[in-house]
Amino acid sequence: MPRSATPPSNMTTLGCALFATRWLQAPLYFGLVAAQGVYVYKFFNELWHLIHHVISGQADETYVMLAVLKLVDVVMIANLLIMVIVGGYETFVSRIGLQGHRDQPEWLSHVNSNVLKVKLATAIVGISSVHLLQMFVDVHHTPRHDLLWGTVIHMAFIVSAAILAYMSGPMAAHEAKAHPLREEPRAQVPAQRSAEPKGREEPEPEPEAETGAEERIEAAGFPARKVLETFDESHLRAPEPQVIARLGKVDFIARKANLVLLGGPGTGKTHLAVALGVRACQAGHQVLFATAAEWGVRLADAKAAGRLRKELARLDAYAVLIVDEIGYVPFEPEVARLFFQLVSHRYERGSVIVTGNRPLGRWDEVFGDRAMASATVDRLAHHAEVVTLDGESYRTRRLEGAAVAGWGGSGPAF
Ligand code: ADP
Ligand code: MG
Repeated sequence: MPRSATPPSNMTTLGCALFATRWLQAPLYFGLVAAQGVYVYKFFNELWHLIHHVISGQADETYVMLAVLKLVDVVMIANLLIMVIVGGYETFVSRIGLQGHRDQPEWLSHVNSNVLKVKLATAIVGISSVHLLQMFVDVHHTPRHDLLWGTVIHMAFIVSAAILAYMSGPMAAHEAKAHPLREEPRAQVPAQRSAEPKGREEPEPEPEAETGAEERIEAAGFPARKVLETFDESHLRAPEPQVIARLGKVDFIARKANLVLLGGPGTGKTHLAVALGVRACQAGHQVLFATAAEWGVRLADAKAAGRLRKELARLDAYAVLIVDEIGYVPFEPEVARLFFQLVSHRYERGSVIVTGNRPLGRWDEVFGDRAMASATVDRLAHHAEVVTLDGESYRTRRLEGAAVAGWGGSGPAF
């Protein structure tokens, strides 16, 4: 199925025709499917020989090991083929539309030519390791010359895979910036959905994944509509390049895990929290957003009315609670206690996304009580992913000149 049934209006007829030529590649992938068939035949042929040799007593230990390695080799090449077939077709021809399929490989949702290259390179390293192992197992029958070259070639594969993996980080970031909407495949938005709700800051390009998503987004109380596609990842301090794409699947919600977003002012914590909240709504979850100060008032009111327990139980209906801006204003002792109660009530019951401007180790400054802070952090962080954002503020970077110079260092250090 083509990515879009109707081409964008700015596409020229010539461009359209050229773009359509990608379908010429489709038969190549079916050719590779035939090659898969050859490998299946080869596998069972090898397996049959192995079984035959073992039964007839002709197989010694080395023979069995070599035969098994050969089988592993065939399987690995078949895996490589699947990767090229599915990943290549998805990248260069058309979306397969596997979203939501339980067998969808994790990498396919954010596949691009960089991811594919790295996957292929690592698969080739795997295959070459098996080949090398075969040579060493059968070392008495392998010429020294072959051993030497096998090792050198294997090292070359390893080095090139490492270089590709290293390069894919900056390249992926660049590509995400150049094509922010390419990350996630999307279906066509029905005409009535394209009408923007009043007062929204950004257009929402995502169609409703489930009915009622728009109502859930309205009810969540987000301060503005933010989407993951407009989030610039360049200031993200994360060990893996695809962290945003992974978080965007919002599968941490099903695990009742938490998310802690830390960083200085204007680094996109609220943007990210809202964007993930929107994704959660689209995935069918109820979300409730409020700042830490607002949560304090809400819980204090409930406590004063003698219905704190009820209020906490009522919040169980929300799969995700977002607590924005922890740390900007220190908690009153009573609010600190209430916040601890909220986090401990949610523990393994539902997800909490918090944003804050202080590292977790300095939350005693917010709570005014070391024991309370560490008990809260302990529960919050037990099943949590902590993502740190740094760099200069997105708010002040738009303002030029000396007026804002030197502001960068005023926040807590990250
Ligand atoms: P914080 O909560 O960290 O103080 P915000 O999320 O409120 O920052 O960001 C302030 C403004 O800058 C918002 O309009 C937001 O959309 C924009 N912004 C901040 N970081 C990013 C980013 N990484 N990518 C795109 N926009 C960003
Ligand atoms: Mg904020």
